[in-house]
Amino acid sequence: MKLEHSPKVAVVTGAGRGIGKAIAESLASSGHTVICVSKNPSSCGAVADAITAAGGKAVAKAVDVSDANAVAAVCEEILKEYGCVDILVNNAGITKDGLVMRMTDEDWSDVLQTNLSSAFYWVKGFLRPMTKKRWGRIVNISSVTGVQGNAGQANYAAAKAGLIGLTKALAREFATRSITVNAVAPGFITTDMTAVLPEEVQQKIKSAIPLARFGAPEDIAATVNFLCSENAGYITGQCFSVDGGMAM
Ligand code: NAP
Repeated sequence: MKLEHSPKVAVVTGAGRGIGKAIAESLASSGHTVICVSKNPSSCGAVADAITAAGGKAVAKAVDVSDANAVAAVCEEILKEYGCVDILVNNAGITKDGLVMRMTDEDWSDVLQTNLSSAFYWVKGFLRPMTKKRWGRIVNISSVTGVQGNAGQANYAAAKAGLIGLTKALAREFATRSITVNAVAPGFITTDMTAVLPEEVQQKIKSAIPLARFGAPEDIAATVNFLCSENAGYITGQCFSVDGGMAM
């Protein structure tokens, strides 16, 4: 089955590397204009340039997604330029792991701000014109850790579980406007985020994954692409695990 996509404007946060880069490339290959967001201008710039060089449509916007005022200003700038954003993928995320007894307030709030509050800021920035247009797709990138918890990741688990709650609440609030809101919960995916795990930890994790390997960023991008297509218009408020069978 070929997915149906009519050209739209999409914003992908954390598009400078890893999963976000694969999502941006996938949406661009489906004909969408993709606004690639990352913290560092060089990473989102390189991804937007590569998409454009390959014949797609993309621009880069560098912003710290944990800064409410900065996100509001960029949303305004984007809306001035494009009128409406049809697809929003909240993917930017960080980890600051540690056992709760040793976790600092700063590590707690940085992870909550970057992974969870940021999604609220972007949604607030784009929802009004999206509701007027009566079409929209919002996908929040959660994690297997948000679904089942993980020792040493209380901040990250809380943020990623919070994204699932946000997803379900938004899905109920905006269903009458034909805006679907879903979450994707990746398992362990080969990116910079997991590259920092020592080899023996990676082996131990793999032994707990039924498919016995890490996934690729493209595995997540394929699910997100489907959820953003016309074909997925009757799916909302769901969280899809793409994790090699970890959270059954
Ligand atoms: P990654 O390779 O570390 O890339 C993270 C991206 O997010 C980068 O482009 C980074 O920007 C951007 N970012 C981080 N903090 C930001 C901020 N404050 N403002 C703007 N952009 C910011 O991560 P990944 O592995 O692709 O993960 C992507 C998402 O999937 C995250 O939400 C992560 O929690 C989730 N996830 C990942 C895995 C996994 O195994 N990899 C598993 C489950 C869930 P710069 O490029 O400018 O640094």
